Amino acid sequence: MQCGLCCDGTFYGSVAIGDDESERLGRVGLRVLRAPEDRGDGALTMAQPCSALRGVLCTVYADRPSACARFECTLRKNVRAGESTLDEGVANVARMRALLATIRGGLDCPDTTSIWEKILELEEPAGADAAAAARDYAAVIAAVGELLNVGRAVFEPRFAGGGTR
Ligand code: SF4
Repeated sequence: MQCGLCCDGTFYGSVAIGDDESERLGRVGLRVLRAPEDRGDGALTMAQPCSALRGVLCTVYADRPSACARFECTLRKNVRAGESTLDEGVANVARMRALLATIRGGLDCPDTTSIWEKILELEEPAGADAAAAARDYAAVIAAVGELLNVGRAVFEPRFAGGGTR
């Protein structure tokens, strides 16, 4: 109950939704979209950050999509299998959340926006305030690098920013 990284757009850009789930999810307020045929296969998806996420908690947990219910990250699997401890897991979650705070703060990125959208718009600072801006830029770049490294090593080996869960 301290993570939320698989719902807030950090690990995934969207969640795959089954054709038979759309109506049920609409009733609990989730917005299900059909990917345009020209940009995908026309499958149903739900964009991340998820509109049902409050802080790090799912507000529709009992009614969440089946892809959410089935999903289990590598960190959780390893803790359940006794390959790492709960304390190690909690520490890794805390590190990731601290990195996210640095990235969101540095990019002025609200919780409702994916960090990857903002990162794609990032430009190397230039001009009169370049020195101070360069320090912020470097801090964000370093945090993104560590986020990717820890994310892949501990949470999701395929983690590349975006993608569908
Ligand atoms: S429905 Fe719940 S579990 Fe699924 S992405 Fe949204 S907040 Fe996460």
